[in-house]
Amino acid sequence: MTLALLALGALLVASLAYTVACWAAPFTTCSRCKGLGKRTTWLRNERPCQACKSTGRRVRLGRRIHTRASALHQRGTR
Ligand SMILES: [Zn+2]
Repeated sequence: MTLALLALGALLVASLAYTVACWAAPFTTCSRCKGLGKRTTWLRNERPCQACKSTGRRVRLGRRIHTRASALHQRGTR
């Protein structure tokens, strides 16, 4: 019982920390190009990164969920 309560508390703290991170810094470095904006193919050709459109940054998943949810709320409460 105590272990489950401890695990639940840790999960709550981690999700709260992620929420604060999404609020404070909604952008993070692109994981595909590691923030470079370009990718190297196996033939060593450089191509622009398609995942981040060569910006090297992408929106966090939690922020995307928040944006979608707030847009849905806006549409629903018009
Ligand atoms: Zn990228």
